[in-house]
Amino acid sequence: MDTKLVVYNTITRKKENFIPLNFPFVGLYVCGPTVYSDVHLGNCRTFISFDLIYRYLLHLDFKVRYVRNITDAGHLEGDRDEGDDKFAKKAKLEKLEPMEIVQKYTLGFHDVMRLFNALPPNIEPTATGHISEQIEMAKKIINNGFAYEVNGTIYFDVEKYSKEYNYTILTNRQLEDLLVNTRELGGQNEKKGRLDFALWIKAKPEHIMKWPSPWGIGFPGWHIECSAMSGKYLGDVFDIHGGGMDLAATHHTNEIAQSEACNHKQPAKYWMHTNMLTVNGTRMSKSAGNGFLPGELFTGNHPLLNRGFSPMAVRFFMLQAHYRSTLDFSNDALEASEKGFKRLINAYSLLNKLKSSNSSEVDISNLSERCYAAMNDDFNSPVLIAELFEAVHMVNSIYDGNTKATEQDLITLKKLMTEFIFDVLGLKEETSQTDDMAKLIDFVVDLRTEAKYNKDYATSDKIRNGLEQLGIQIKDTKEETTWNKA
Ligand code: AMP
Ligand code: ZN
Repeated sequence: MDTKLVVYNTITRKKENFIPLNFPFVGLYVCGPTVYSDVHLGNCRTFISFDLIYRYLLHLDFKVRYVRNITDAGHLEGDRDEGDDKFAKKAKLEKLEPMEIVQKYTLGFHDVMRLFNALPPNIEPTATGHISEQIEMAKKIINNGFAYEVNGTIYFDVEKYSKEYNYTILTNRQLEDLLVNTRELGGQNEKKGRLDFALWIKAKPEHIMKWPSPWGIGFPGWHIECSAMSGKYLGDVFDIHGGGMDLAATHHTNEIAQSEACNHKQPAKYWMHTNMLTVNGTRMSKSAGNGFLPGELFTGNHPLLNRGFSPMAVRFFMLQAHYRSTLDFSNDALEASEKGFKRLINAYSLLNKLKSSNSSEVDISNLSERCYAAMNDDFNSPVLIAELFEAVHMVNSIYDGNTKATEQDLITLKKLMTEFIFDVLGLKEETSQTDDMAKLIDFVVDLRTEAKYNKDYATSDKIRNGLEQLGIQIKDTKEETTWNKA
C-alpha cells in the first residue's frame, strides 16, 4: 500500500517515504520517562508528539506495536556514567524505597498521559524487569570484542567500534570534535577511551538497586536497557525509534553502537526526534528549574502562569507546532490555543444542526485530500489544524445559510472532522462542567465580595472557609478578588 506518508529520518537527515519493513506491521519504540520525579510539560510534549504519530499510523491502518519503556534503574545523574543513582538519591530524600519512588512516579506519569488523552503503548517494559536481557546483550558485545571489563564494570569500546562502524552516524558530528569536547572524568581513568560508556556498572556496597551478574554485583548502564528491550519486543531491526532531540547525541548514538556491536545491524530504519518545549527560549528541564508540572498548568498555580488551562487546550497548543520545531511556552499563546480549540469544538457541535440543500457549494473531498497531505508530510499537525479551520469556516457558513451543502456533503464532513479532530489529533470534548463550575465559583466569590462590602463579615468568612474546605483558595488584592483550585 502506498500511503504517501513521508517521515524525516534523523539518520539520513532527509524526508523519506515511509515503507515499513514488514507491511502492514510497524514496530515503534519510544524512550519513556525516567520515573524518579514528576514529568514536566516538556516531557509531555515529546510523548504527545509520539501519540500523534502513533494515532496517525493507526488511522492509516498499520498494525502498530508501540513500545515505550519506563526507565526505573541505571540512570545516573550525569549522562556519562558519573554521579549518584537518580532513584536512590530521591528515595533517600523522600524516605521511601527506590521501588516506591518508581511506582509513585510511574502512576503519576500514567495519570498525566490519560489527562492529555494519550493512548497507552502496547508494551511498557521496565529496565528492572529486563536485567537478564541486558546482561545477555553485554555478554554478546564482549564476545564480539567491542566491550571490556575493568573491576566488575563493563565498558563499551568506542574506538574499537569506530574502526568498523560510524559512531557519529546519527548526529553527523566528527569523532575528533567529540573527543576534544569530552572531559576526562575524575575517578574514571579505568576507561580505555574517554568516549567509552558503561554497559554494566559495579555497585558500591551502599548502592541499593543491584543485581548479580557474571562480573559481580552491579546494575545496568542507562543505554543498554533500550537496546535490550526494543530488540526483545520488536526484533533486531524495527521500523521507528523515537525520543526527544536531546537523546540523539548520547543515548541513541550509544544504542545504535550497542545494537551494531551485538547483532551487526542498525536497530531502526527511521529515527525520529521531537524538538524541545522552551520557556523564554531556554529548554524546559528539571535542572534549569523552569519546568512546570501539568497539574500546575491546569490550576494556574505557578508564578509564570496568569491562570489555569485545560488539558485539551494545552494539547491543542502543542499540536499547533510541528513536532520538529521548538515550541516556546507563553500565556498569550496558550490563550490563543484555548480560543482556537473552543472554536473548533463549537463548530463540530454545530454539525448535527446543519441543514442540507439539493445543491452543493463545497468541495469536501478536496478538503480531505489536504488534511491527508498535511499529515503525510511528516505529521504536519499545524497545517492539518489550519485545514480544519477551513472546515470550521465551512460549517459556520452552512449554519448561517450562506453556503449550500448536500446531505452527502454533511455526512462526509462530519466523518472527516471526527476522524481528524478526535482519532488523529487525539483531542476530546471537555465537559462543560468545568466551565459551569468556574462560573458557579465566580458567582459565590461575588456573593462574598458583596457581603464584605456590606460589612457582613460573618457571611464573607463563612463563604471563604467553605470554599477553602473544597480546595478553593481566595486571594484578595486592592483591585480584585481571584480564586485558585488546588
Ligand atoms: P527523561 O524522563 O528525562 O528521560 O525524559 C523523557 C523524554 O522527554 C525524553 O524523550 C526527553 O528527550 C524528553 N524531553 C525532556 N525535556 C524536554 C523538553 N523541554 N521538551 C520536549 N521534550 C523533552
Ligand atoms: Zn531509550
